[in-house]
Amino acid sequence: MKTPTALENLLHARSGPMTTELVQHPADYGLGLGRVPARLAPAATTDMVCGFCSTGCSLRVHLDAGGQAINLSATPDYPVNLGMACPKGWEALTPLAAPDRATTPLLRTSRGAPLSPVDWPTALAAFTGKFQAIQRAHGPHSIAFLSTGQIAMEEMALLGALFKFGMGGLHCDSNTRQCMATSHVAYKQSFGFDAPPFTYADFEESDALIFIGANPCIAHPIMWQRVMRNRRQPEIVVVDPRTTETAQAATLHVALHPKSDLTLLYGLAHLLIARGAVKREFIDAHTTDYDTFAAFVAPFTPEHTATETGVPLATLHRLVEIIATRERVSFWWTMGVNQSHEATRTAQAIINLALMTGNIGRPGTGANSITGQCNAMGSRLFGNASSLLGGYDFAKAEHREHVARIIGVVPAQIPDRSGYAYDQILDAIERGEIRGLWVIATNTAHSWINQTRARDLLAKLDFLVVQEMYTTTETAQLADLVLPAAGWGEKEGVLINSERRLGVIKKVSRAPGQALSDFAIFKLVAEAWGCGDLFREWRNPAAAFQILKTLSAGQPCDFTGIRDYAHIAESGGIQWPLPESPSADRPSAMTERRLFADGKFFTPDARARFYFDAPRPMPEPPDADYPFIMLTGRGSSAQWHTGSRTDKSAVLRKLAPTVLTAEINPDDATRLGIASGDRVTVRSRRGTAEAIALVTPTVQRGQIFLPMHFGTVNKLTFPSFDPHSRQPSYKACAVAVARFE
Ligand code: SF4
Repeated sequence: MKTPTALENLLHARSGPMTTELVQHPADYGLGLGRVPARLAPAATTDMVCGFCSTGCSLRVHLDAGGQAINLSATPDYPVNLGMACPKGWEALTPLAAPDRATTPLLRTSRGAPLSPVDWPTALAAFTGKFQAIQRAHGPHSIAFLSTGQIAMEEMALLGALFKFGMGGLHCDSNTRQCMATSHVAYKQSFGFDAPPFTYADFEESDALIFIGANPCIAHPIMWQRVMRNRRQPEIVVVDPRTTETAQAATLHVALHPKSDLTLLYGLAHLLIARGAVKREFIDAHTTDYDTFAAFVAPFTPEHTATETGVPLATLHRLVEIIATRERVSFWWTMGVNQSHEATRTAQAIINLALMTGNIGRPGTGANSITGQCNAMGSRLFGNASSLLGGYDFAKAEHREHVARIIGVVPAQIPDRSGYAYDQILDAIERGEIRGLWVIATNTAHSWINQTRARDLLAKLDFLVVQEMYTTTETAQLADLVLPAAGWGEKEGVLINSERRLGVIKKVSRAPGQALSDFAIFKLVAEAWGCGDLFREWRNPAAAFQILKTLSAGQPCDFTGIRDYAHIAESGGIQWPLPESPSADRPSAMTERRLFADGKFFTPDARARFYFDAPRPMPEPPDADYPFIMLTGRGSSAQWHTGSRTDKSAVLRKLAPTVLTAEINPDDATRLGIASGDRVTVRSRRGTAEAIALVTPTVQRGQIFLPMHFGTVNKLTFPSFDPHSRQPSYKACAVAVARFE
C-alpha cells in the first residue's frame, strides 16, 4: 500500500468532508450581540483568548453538539477582562463566515492573468519551484518573508525556523515592526531583555497613570475599563497633541506639539532633578549612567521645554508635581511613541523617568508599553527575525549552538546575523536584490508607509506569495500565488498579551474549503522544500510549544513551569516568567506577575541603563505648500487595522465610520471655508486622499487627524524610520487640505 503523503495525512486528519459551510453568528439571525436563539442553545462552552488586540481578553465560545462555535460571550472570571469584551471581541466569529474567504490555493500563471484555483500539490510545486529558481539565479538571500503578530507563537516560530534553518533564507520581518519594534529595542537596551514589567492590576493600583501617545479608550478599551476600576482617586494624565477620548476623560491633558515628546520628557527629568524628586538610593543600587543623564538634561529648562513643546509652564509644573508627590506612578505608552522618527529614545526617556523616580517593580508603577497586536509579544520572543528564537542573539556563537542543539539543526544552519528589517527588505526589492516574497497574514499594500511605493515594489517582484484568510485584501490581489489560511477560531496555539500572559486559542470552527492552519501550511512547505526532516519533532502546535518551552529555559521569559495548553487554560492564562521551580515571590498559583520587584534587571550587571540622545527635528515639517501636520491613529474600537476582518461584520460596520473622515480645527475650517460633512482633499507630496470633513476642536490649529483604517491614508504618509528600531513614523507628515471642488 502506498504511504500517504504529508498532505494526504493532513487532509485526512480534518474531520468530515471539506466544505465551505460555516457556522452562522447570531447577528445573522437578526439578533443582538450575545443572544443565542433557543434552537441554537449551546451544548458546551470553551474559553480562548481573543485574536485581535494585545489586551488578550478571554472569550467564552458556545458550541453546538458537534463542537462547532455558534456564539460567544466574554469569560466572566478571566483575570484580564473580568467578563468584559470590546465590539471586536463580541464579533470575533463573524469574519470567519465571510464570503471572500480563501477556500483553495490560487495561482496566476502569467502576469496579467487572473488568479485561478489550483490544488495544494500544484500550489506547493509552484512555491518551491519559483523560490528555489530565484535562489539558484540570485543567491539564497534573494527571497524574504513578511509575517505578522496575529498568528500563534508556535506558527511564527516554525515559520522563522523553516525559513532560516531549512530554506536558507536570511531576510524576514513582520508587521510587529510597525507596532512594537521600538518597545522591543528600548527594553532590550535599557533592561537587558525585551521585558514589559507590568501586570494589568497596575492600572487599578496606580496613584497616577501617565499615558503618552496612547488612547486606550479607543485602542485598548478593556484596559481602560481596568483604569476605571482604580479606587485610589488617581490622577490620569494624557500626553497627546489631540484631545482624544482618553484626554477628555483625564484629569490633565498635556497637549504638546506633534513629535515634541522627547523634549517634554527630558524637560520633566530636568524639573524632577531640580526639585530633588529623584530616588537616589534606587538609582545608585540598580542603575547605570544616571549622572551623565542628569548632566544631559540640564539644558532642558522649563522655559526651553515650554517653547519647544508648546506646553504652558503651569502645565509642566503640575505634571512634575504629580510625578513627584504620588507614591505609585505608572507610565504607559503605545503607538504615539513607537511610531516616531526618534521612537526608541522617546520610549527610553519614559523608562528613564520611571527609573530615576523609583517607579518600577512596585504595584501601580512601571514604564509600560501597551502592545498592539494579539501576539506581538510572541513575535518578539519567537519570530526569529531580529532575535534568535527565545530572545537569543544570532551574533553569539554560543547562542547559535544552544538553539541548534534544542532544535536539532547544525549550528552552521543558523545565520550569524539578523537580516533586513521590513523597510530594508522593500529597499532590497527596489535594488533587485530580493526577488521573491512570502507575505503571511499581513496587508502590506494597505498598511505600509508611503503605500504607492510599497505597491510598486510588490509588483516588481518575480514571485509574490500571499498566505491569507481572504482573497480580497489589497496584497492578495497582487499575489502570484495565494495560500488559503485558517484564522483565529480555526486552529490552536498560544498568544502572548501585553502583560506577558500566555493564553490559548482553540479550534472551534472548521476552516472553509481547502484552507489550512498556518502551522500546517508551514509543515507542507517544509516537506515540499525538502527539509521536512528538520521539523519532524514539530508534529503539531502542542509539540512545538514543548520545544519553545525548552528554548525559554534560563531566559528571562522562562516558562518551563507551564505544563501544557490545559495548564494555561485552567490557570486563566500564565504570565512569563514561570520557571520549572517557581520562586517564593513567583509561586505558580499567582495570577499576576510583575517584574523587577527585586531591582535586578536582565543586563550582565543586573543594572538598568539610562539611554538618551538629543531630539531631532520632525523629518517633514509643514511649510507654505503643505501647511498642516497630519496625525494618524486608531479611529474606533470597532475597527482593526486594515479592516480585512472587522469590515466583514455588519455590526462593526454600524459602529464605525464607513468613509474616511478628516478631523480639522474650527479656526482652520473657517479660514478654508470647510464645514462638517464637506468633501475635502488631503494632499501630501506622495499622494491625495478624499475625505469627509469633521470640524472639531479636538485637533489643534494647523493639524488634521485621519484614522489609519482606510486604504488611502498611507498614500500620504512620509517614510521615515527610527534609526534603532526601524519602526516607521506614521504619526506626522506635512499635508495640504482643501475643500473638494
Ligand atoms: Fe479582543 Fe482586544 Fe477587544 Fe479584548 S479589547 S475583546 S482582546 S479586541
